[in-house]
Amino acid sequence: MRKFLILFSAWLVLSSFGDKQGSDVSNIETNAISQLINDMTNTNAIEDNTLLAKGVKHAANLWRESDGTEAQFEAFCKKNYITDPVEREMVFQKVSRNIEIITGHFNKITLDLLEPVHLNIFEQHPIDNAFGAYSVGSHWMNDFYQNKIAFMIALNFPAYSLEEKEANAKDWSRKEWAYARLGDYFTARVPSELLQAAGAASAGSDVYIMDYNIHVGHLTDKKGNRFFPEDKVLLSHWNLRDEIKANYANKNGGLEKQKIIYQVMQRIISQEIPEKVINNGGFEWDPYANQVYQNGKAIDATPEPNERYQQILNNFHANKAIDPYYPDQNTFIKRQYDGAKEISAEATEKIFTDFLRSEETVKVGKLIKKRLGRKLQPFDIWYDGFKARSGMDESKLDAQTRGLYPNAAALEADLPNLLVKLGYDKERAQWLGDHIAVDPARGSGHAWGGAAKGQKAHLRTRISPKGMDYKGYNIAIHEFGHNVEQTISLYDVDNFTMNGVPNTAFTEALAFIFQKRDMLLLDINDDSPQKDALKKLDLFWSAYEIMGVSVLDIRVWKWLYANPEADAAQLSDATMQIAKEVWNEFYSPVYGVKDQTILAIYSHMLNSPLYLSNYAFGNVIEFQLEQHLKGKTFPTEVDRIFKQGRLTPNQWMVEATGNDLSAQPLLKAAKEALEELK
Ligand SMILES: [Zn+2]
Repeated sequence: MRKFLILFSAWLVLSSFGDKQGSDVSNIETNAISQLINDMTNTNAIEDNTLLAKGVKHAANLWRESDGTEAQFEAFCKKNYITDPVEREMVFQKVSRNIEIITGHFNKITLDLLEPVHLNIFEQHPIDNAFGAYSVGSHWMNDFYQNKIAFMIALNFPAYSLEEKEANAKDWSRKEWAYARLGDYFTARVPSELLQAAGAASAGSDVYIMDYNIHVGHLTDKKGNRFFPEDKVLLSHWNLRDEIKANYANKNGGLEKQKIIYQVMQRIISQEIPEKVINNGGFEWDPYANQVYQNGKAIDATPEPNERYQQILNNFHANKAIDPYYPDQNTFIKRQYDGAKEISAEATEKIFTDFLRSEETVKVGKLIKKRLGRKLQPFDIWYDGFKARSGMDESKLDAQTRGLYPNAAALEADLPNLLVKLGYDKERAQWLGDHIAVDPARGSGHAWGGAAKGQKAHLRTRISPKGMDYKGYNIAIHEFGHNVEQTISLYDVDNFTMNGVPNTAFTEALAFIFQKRDMLLLDINDDSPQKDALKKLDLFWSAYEIMGVSVLDIRVWKWLYANPEADAAQLSDATMQIAKEVWNEFYSPVYGVKDQTILAIYSHMLNSPLYLSNYAFGNVIEFQLEQHLKGKTFPTEVDRIFKQGRLTPNQWMVEATGNDLSAQPLLKAAKEALEELK
């Protein structure tokens, strides 16, 4: 998750605040809305009443009895609708300035309060966490309904659906885009108890998956063999998957370990896993025969009662209850895709399935088979053998980075030089460097952007007393990429409401583009053979896996909406059925086996439903940008592209590269890599 942690705060705020009042539906009748639009059109002699109608409907949807009677709503609209374009622009500038002030200061307060939690220069006390968890910015949107500012915005700068944004994308001026982005602030007014219920469902799933450990030291087969050290415990699914990955390098029994973990995963998915062995090392378990032993004797054990699927259902019911409050994004699928990612679920499926059907999957699969010297197994979706052995000795790299960066201040001072190495001229490099602060982090680090001009982006990185080792440096360069994006897309974007990137996958793309150039920044020409080609295939293979998982996630949620009364057992059957269908369509041609359920193992499906596509889009965007950057001046293009701010993802990509958002560059890269390795 680390990869996508950052830059989310603004959008979470946009979509997650509701109404304190008990009466939670609009008290404005449809007839009254039409009548009001007619009245206002006539009195104001407006030729084109589209915008007016849109604004009145939008404001009516947000209005509640507690805000006033129908007559008061009508009076409010008549008084506050702005017909003069000059006045409209003036009001836009004022609102935009004030939202920057509000969200910017909240961001600063949060950042400062969290310093004792995040930075290793503070002595720690539990009270730091209490302050760190305090959400200072959580009420302003509610307050703006009370003081009616939200209605002034909704009435004059109404929200557009994703379809409308895409239809207008090419024709809108920057000003029209900026107005539309202001419309995105107040899109729905969801009762707070429903938001709390959705939060509780998600938190419940978090607890469930965070406690789902398998004591693999107690796994056994029918001959009584052990496979792991007795005290080894792995969290599902992340640690289980990573154990499969790690064993590609293990020539002594690695395959047997992978096989038994795969067997465990299948029992988790089918919920045949004995309840007793979850989070419990008191028993021996043979996942092949699904037999539990206590003190060497076989005992009866009941399977886990579909709790996994109950968790998904809990999230479904809690989020479905919110649907009626969104006139446009009236399903959780739409809110996650049209809303959060601004790529529809349909467009996502199209991009991913085009990729999944490509002949490159078969070709890369054959290469892996050859490298492994055996037939592919379903768990080879996590094949980890494309990691290029760097020509560099890592201890030498450690010595170099420790020498360069003994502390955070040394890295901060060096940021402009790093940008010069990427091709920036001195002045611009200095300016960007001046807007990024480096802080010594407790954890592995992160990038935290400013939220108003005047604020710096923060690069939080872990530096040991001996100085920064190479691994830390590599991650710091990733975060530096985020910081550069954050700075350009805050300071250089023409309107504050347009600041940022289309969605979280776009900032990841630039972070990875920077990270990939880490050797260049150390003045090392790392020409280890085949490094690039292997790296491309590694990313290709992980995209192949994650796109399938994402498609499964979407199809399960579509099934839920088609079968809203389903119980956990029915959802379990459906999920396994859909997982097999996705497998049979996109993986069985490569693997030569049918009906595998493995794609359903991801824990994200429980606690972050419909989030997984972000990872796949990260790969897609990175390759599309890299292909575009080839042979061009890096700084000119990066500045130009990230100055665009928050267009819709597809329009952003069209203006960045001349092409629609597409996985073709990723396929092309794989093709080239296959050629190179021949
Ligand atoms: Zn990142």
